Amino acid sequence: REEYCSKIQEAIEAIGFRGEYLDHCRYGSGHINDTFLIRFKEPEGNVERYILQRMNHEIFKNPDELMENIYNVTSFLRDKISKMHGDTKRETMNVIYTKDGRPYFKDSIGACWRAYLFVGDTMSFDKVENTKDFYESGVSFGHFQNLLADFDAASLHETIPDFHNTPVRYEAFLKAVKEDICGRAKEAEAEIRFLMQREKDMGICMELQRAGELPLRVTHNDTKLNNILIDTKTGKGICVIDLDTVMPGLSIFDYGDSIRFGANRAAEDERDLTKVSLDLKLFEAYTKGFLEGCGGSLTEKEIELLPMGAKLMTMECGMRFLTDYLVGDTYFRIHREGHNLDRCRTQLKLVEDMEQKWDSMKDITGKYR
Ligand code: ADP
Ligand code: MG
Ligand code: MG
Repeated sequence: REEYCSKIQEAIEAIGFRGEYLDHCRYGSGHINDTFLIRFKEPEGNVERYILQRMNHEIFKNPDELMENIYNVTSFLRDKISKMHGDTKRETMNVIYTKDGRPYFKDSIGACWRAYLFVGDTMSFDKVENTKDFYESGVSFGHFQNLLADFDAASLHETIPDFHNTPVRYEAFLKAVKEDICGRAKEAEAEIRFLMQREKDMGICMELQRAGELPLRVTHNDTKLNNILIDTKTGKGICVIDLDTVMPGLSIFDYGDSIRFGANRAAEDERDLTKVSLDLKLFEAYTKGFLEGCGGSLTEKEIELLPMGAKLMTMECGMRFLTDYLVGDTYFRIHREGHNLDRCRTQLKLVEDMEQKWDSMKDITGKYR
C-alpha cells in the first residue's frame, strides 16, 4: 500500500490546489482508500486544507465511471444547496480538478488520485454509541435522498454490477452449496435451510422496481455512520461523504443496510448469538431521522417496504458471508477459522429477530411516515 502512495508528490503537483504546498499526513479511519490531509498556504496568507485520496484500484476498476458519478452527483447537490442558500462548501463534497481539467490524476505507476475540499470542524464515528448520532446519520442520509429525488438515477454508472441484486446473489449461493468445493456445507446445514426457506423474499423488491412500483433512486451503498461528517458545534450531520459506491438502486436498501449494521446490539462476528438482536430504540431513532430527512420524497410503497429493506439487506449480507465460507473465504478477509460462518450466523439471527419484531417495525415506520 505504501508503495502505491509513493507518488503522492506527483499528485500534489498535478492537482489544481491554490497556493504553496505546506505538508500532508494520513487522515481518518477509512479502510478502502488511502486518505491524506494536505495543507496549502494561499496567496492571501491563510492556510487551506484539502482531502487527497489514492483510490483503491482493487475494488474500483473503473475510475472514469466512478469519478463521473461522483462529479455529477456532487455538482447537482451543489446547485440544489446553493438554491436553498445553504453552504455549498460544507454540505456537499467538492471535487478539486487537476490542472489539466480532469476529476482525478493517474500517476506514473498507475495509481489514481483525487482531491476534495476539506470539511472542517466536524467529527465522525466508527460505531453507533448512542441513539442521537444514529438519528443524525438517518437525517443526513434521508436528506441526501431528498436532495437527489429529482436526479436521473438511471444516468449513473453501475460501477459494481448487481451489487444489491439479491436474486443474483442467491444463485451464487445455490451454486456454492451444490458444488461444495471445500466440503463445508454440512457445517452450515441449518443456515442453508434458513436461506432456502426464504427464497421467495429474495426477489420481491427488485420485481417491484421492474414493475415500476418502486422508483429507481440515487443510492449511496455505504451508509455507515462514519460516512457522515457531524458538525462539532451543532452536533448535526452536515455532509455525506464517501461517494465511491453511488449508483442507481433502491432507497429501502440504503435504509436497510444502515439498520443492519447500526441497530444490531452485537458485533458483526459475535459468536454468542444470544447477544444478537435488533434494538428497537435504535431502529426507531434511525427511522425517524431518515424519514424526516427524506421530507416527503419517498413514495407510500417505499415507506411500506422499509422493514423489508432492512430484512433483505441483512439476509443478503448473511448469504454473502455463507457463500464465501462455502467457496473457501476468497472475498471477506478472515481472522480465524470459520469466521465467515460466524458472521453469517449473526446476520441470520438478526433476520430471525426482525421477523419476530415485524409488527413493531411496521408500527414504527408507519408512525413517522
Ligand atoms: P473510505 O472509503 O476509505 O472509507 P472516505 O472517503 O470515507 O474513505 O474517507 C476516509 C475518512 O476521511 C472519512 O471517514 C473522513 O474522516 C475523512 N474525510 C473524507 N473526505 C473528507 C472531507 N471532504 N472533509 C473532511 N474529512 C473527510
Ligand atoms: Mg468511508
Ligand atoms: Mg468508501
